[in-house]
Amino acid sequence: MSYPLERVRSDFPLLAREVNGQPLAYLDSAASAQKPQSVIDRELDFYRHGYAAVHRGIHTLSAEATQQMEGVREQVARFINADSAEEIVFVKGTTEGINLVANSFGRHLLTAGDSIIITEMEHHANIVPWQMLAQERGITLRVWPLQPDGTLDLAQLPGLIDASTKLLAITQVSNVLGTVNPLHKIVPVAKAAGLKVLVDGAQAVMHQRIDVQALDCDFYVFSGHKLYGPSGIGILYGKQALLEQMPPWEGGGAMIQRVSLTQGTTFAAPPWRFEAGSPNTAGMMGLGAAIDYVEALGLENIHEYEQSLMRYALDGLQQVPTLKIYGPAQRAGVIAFNLGEHHAYDVGSFLDQYGIAIRTGHHCAMPLMEFYRVPSMCRASLALYNTRQEVDRLVAGLQRIHSLLG
Ligand code: PMP
Repeated sequence: MSYPLERVRSDFPLLAREVNGQPLAYLDSAASAQKPQSVIDRELDFYRHGYAAVHRGIHTLSAEATQQMEGVREQVARFINADSAEEIVFVKGTTEGINLVANSFGRHLLTAGDSIIITEMEHHANIVPWQMLAQERGITLRVWPLQPDGTLDLAQLPGLIDASTKLLAITQVSNVLGTVNPLHKIVPVAKAAGLKVLVDGAQAVMHQRIDVQALDCDFYVFSGHKLYGPSGIGILYGKQALLEQMPPWEGGGAMIQRVSLTQGTTFAAPPWRFEAGSPNTAGMMGLGAAIDYVEALGLENIHEYEQSLMRYALDGLQQVPTLKIYGPAQRAGVIAFNLGEHHAYDVGSFLDQYGIAIRTGHHCAMPLMEFYRVPSMCRASLALYNTRQEVDRLVAGLQRIHSLLG
């Protein structure tokens, strides 16, 4: 099938905007993706026609909203090939999902003297919760170092594992370098040594089909807003047997079985045990529409299109004098670079004047900046709606900045 780029672009109303008098070239989807009209409509429609509090209502609207919410849970389970919908916990996003695991699994199923492995390419969301846990509980954090090309050396993993090691928390795709970690090789090594594995899928779910059973990870987390869905909604997948062993993290309404002031509280079964309070139902509806959207387009088609665009972008960027690209040739559609010695903020500000939106800064990956000994990087990220013309504009813009600033 030829990729229906024009139709795809027309599905995203914001892409028609101008910025600083120029047509917008939105190359910042790794930070947050734009939303198709169908996602916006689904959320609006829920507020217009279907909104009510879920779970506790006997009235029709509440029952319908509950049914829709549970329908999205089932849809997410199918989307990532979970064994059942009970393995799908609604959270605010990747950050909350990882904090949930750190606070529940980490605080209650790990003990002092245990160790956890993370990698040097992690987003702060997959570093800081573990550091906090480590400090509080006397757990050691081991770091799987990066190689200069932005990949991990698989041969180093066994050496990081000993009898104290209980968890590997690793990103599937680096949000800075675009490195795709070969989880099909990594997870079996960790599992054979008895570790649990948490995969940060924040930068992966929008680029390729995810199958959590094939991955055999214990936890998988992602955010709706990077998958063309609403902000404030995300997913934690956990293997059922493990979720059943985990106590709740937050207490409140909706997560209990029975509350007594004299006999204490008993908790609901997972996943509801982990969903205290009134949830972001409209966000769930939008997430359901986002999954419908990418599935209708086909994740394989998206992957193929983005990969060819990424190769085109790498070729173009390599023509820009003094431009240094970080990370491996094989990557998801994320390209971090610096232009000579210029600060990323300066480059990003110039590009903004040309209507081109990229990310600049440390990308919530300060250890990665330290590794490459730079304070910041520019990052262009490619999504299912980006075009070769936008890439050409980025390359031309950078060439212009180079001739202006040297
Ligand atoms: N992990 C990775 C790899 C990310 O790219 C991000 C978002 N930049 C996060 C975690 C955090 O996601 P959120 O802010 O949606 O919780």
